[in-house]
Amino acid sequence: MCGVFGAFSTAGNPVLEEVYLGLYALQHRGQESAGVAWIDKSDQIRTIKGQGLVHLALNQAELATIDASSAIGHVRYSTAGGSGLANVQPLAANYCRGPVAIAHNGNISNASGVRRYLENRGAIFQSTTDTEVILHLMAHQPHKTELDALVDSLRKLKGAFSLAVALKDRLVAARDPWGFRPLALGKRDDVYYISSESCALDLVGADMIRELEPGEILVIDDEGVRSLRIPVEPRRKYLCSFEFVYFARPDSLISGRSVYEVRKNLGKMLAKGAPCNGDCVTCMPDSGTVAAMGYAEESGIPYEKAIVRNRYSGRTFIEPTQRVRELGVRKKLNPIRELIRGKSLTVVDDSIVRGTTSRRMVELLREYGASEVHMRISSPPVKFPCYYGIDTPTREELAAARANETALCAEIGATSLGYLTGDDLIQAIGLPEWEVCTACFSGNYMEDGERHEELDI
Ligand code: SF4
Repeated sequence: MCGVFGAFSTAGNPVLEEVYLGLYALQHRGQESAGVAWIDKSDQIRTIKGQGLVHLALNQAELATIDASSAIGHVRYSTAGGSGLANVQPLAANYCRGPVAIAHNGNISNASGVRRYLENRGAIFQSTTDTEVILHLMAHQPHKTELDALVDSLRKLKGAFSLAVALKDRLVAARDPWGFRPLALGKRDDVYYISSESCALDLVGADMIRELEPGEILVIDDEGVRSLRIPVEPRRKYLCSFEFVYFARPDSLISGRSVYEVRKNLGKMLAKGAPCNGDCVTCMPDSGTVAAMGYAEESGIPYEKAIVRNRYSGRTFIEPTQRVRELGVRKKLNPIRELIRGKSLTVVDDSIVRGTTSRRMVELLREYGASEVHMRISSPPVKFPCYYGIDTPTREELAAARANETALCAEIGATSLGYLTGDDLIQAIGLPEWEVCTACFSGNYMEDGERHEELDI
């Protein structure tokens, strides 16, 4: 998962510090690296990028001194391409039509086919990210304006892309025709903003104007905002349901829905579908917190914040190696012994992906004296990899794919294990089934599971 942010001042005021603040609010979407890009007064593309959290990768004071009235930024955790410095975004190039920089959230599922096609025609790639195919597709259409080349390039892509693109004198936002990842437009005074999530618009004091429609391109320049379409008509939409379950911040709005409200509903429906008579409901902090509150409210069992998270550490799921994940649980989460000793606990978590965190936590809770540990998961079992921008690379690594519910319960050492159903997930989100992606739960990938390696250029 990644986060993108962009700002454009129609009055020519500097915006790089605004972009820094936006990225800071989107930190939960990627912690491996951060970067910003802008086009300077001599039409050269400029980037500043670094590894790690936003405040380590970028220098806020330095950015505040740079005179750039349009800029984009990106926070990254690697899905396609690995975490090397060459893959840190925004990706930028000066091609024959001018400078261009791209920040991308999502995963282009036909990227390897497009890349092969371009390499066979002489393209030399600088990174291993899927995003770079967009730059090369544009460069292969030198007879078109940058904007026309960009629109035509996006038409050739399959899968998930929410983009912030810096062109000369313009900021462009684009969302794939299937609507996998969120993207919102905001405004404060003379500055337009684009952001992966509305919570970052709140931080910079902007009003959210609206979310981009799937397949929409917004062109922001001195004249204001213009809306274009990517000329692709998909049969259905695929808004990522995992955004509601785990990724997005609860203070964001997606598809007009409060992530907090949806997450609480997930917990309530879980309490109805997978009830439990424990002494108290607790959660795996922080992403299980709101669902646990919903579970407690619906079940009438008291909620206790019995597991404390070190708030200065990152989220386990978005760290790249198994070794770090294994270390992560104890480093980050510590139960409160006095609340746990001799108690039957209902522990609500948002998902079980590899199973490592759940197993370690159940172990720890038993070590601290819990008499029973009932795991309740506020999403259906994750059985299939995601090809649209979430780091779940192989089926073998997914706990629910290699073991059924009973076996997995034994594997993680819980007293019982219960999941939300697929129908309840859709109902809690409140959107029609044909607008929501549930592929990692159901295996129903876009267009009947094709990986879209075939090419139509
Ligand atoms: S497969 Fe799962 S994580 Fe990936 S986009 Fe679909 S719902 Fe989201």
